[in-house]
Amino acid sequence: MNILTAKNLNKSFSIKTGFATKQDFFAVQNVSFQLKKGTCLGLVGESGCGKSTLAKMLVGLLPKTGGEILYQDKPIEDFFYHPHVLQMIFQDPFSSLNPRICVGKSIGEPLKINNAHLSRKDVQNAVEDILQEVGLEKEYYYRYPHEFSGGQRQRIAIARAIITHPEILVCDEAVSALDASHQAQVLNLLLDLKEKYGLSYLFISHNLQVISFMCDEIMVMYAGEIIEQAPRAVLFENPLHPYTKALIASAPYIGKEKQNIVLQGEMPSLMQRQVGCSFAGRCPHAQAICRQEKPYLKGEQEHKTACHLFAH
Ligand code: SF4
Repeated sequence: MNILTAKNLNKSFSIKTGFATKQDFFAVQNVSFQLKKGTCLGLVGESGCGKSTLAKMLVGLLPKTGGEILYQDKPIEDFFYHPHVLQMIFQDPFSSLNPRICVGKSIGEPLKINNAHLSRKDVQNAVEDILQEVGLEKEYYYRYPHEFSGGQRQRIAIARAIITHPEILVCDEAVSALDASHQAQVLNLLLDLKEKYGLSYLFISHNLQVISFMCDEIMVMYAGEIIEQAPRAVLFENPLHPYTKALIASAPYIGKEKQNIVLQGEMPSLMQRQVGCSFAGRCPHAQAICRQEKPYLKGEQEHKTACHLFAH
């Protein structure tokens, strides 16, 4: 069952380029996907490709320019104030926690706001339970964010996100600010919580190793577009798009391809709509058609790619 569906999502920003001139910046273009209940859908791509913009649209922090987001076939906008539906975990837990409020109160806030009938003691008990659930002592309730390590702060952010028992968690670079040992601990915690509560994750990262550890299915994003999507094993065993191949080759500890692919150039400017393939400027296989016609995501069964080499 699909718990979250995005259909042709678009986001553009109007940016001031001079005294009286503005230009559009096309951050996310025609993104569609389905998140199946109880699974983890990964979104990987280099910095600036539109991953975080997409995440912010899903949770209502940014309005979309076009397209639809559905929670179980109903517009997600109807559920933005229902904390049991969707919550987000950010990259930097320090900036997502109020430094002047003890962590117990920060964690309990969403529960209190949405359950006015709960007494202070009920909320405190729920917070102490959830602190232990994420591997922290319940005595930490009265401590402040600066008294914790980065890994502990991310556990606090996770506790705050799950205290309302949401069905979907959007994790935006949730372990990128942590060192390797804390990364592994927090990823294992997220997997345990997914198992225990049947959570569904949209897991965003630039790190393919993290994505391969966490995700059942993976979308690869480039210049605001999804250019390949497949189940994890299929993507790493048989990547099709030249960009995905280069990404996997740059992370030689995963996948079977151990090729030495070095990408030249940079991602194209998103200040104008690309006429052909947005990867054409860097692609070693680019042909004339690639600069004239945009390839759209298509394919057989669950493995789809947007590349003229694989026009099905
Ligand atoms: Fe390369 Fe053409 Fe495929 Fe784009 S469409 S990835 S330029 S071969």
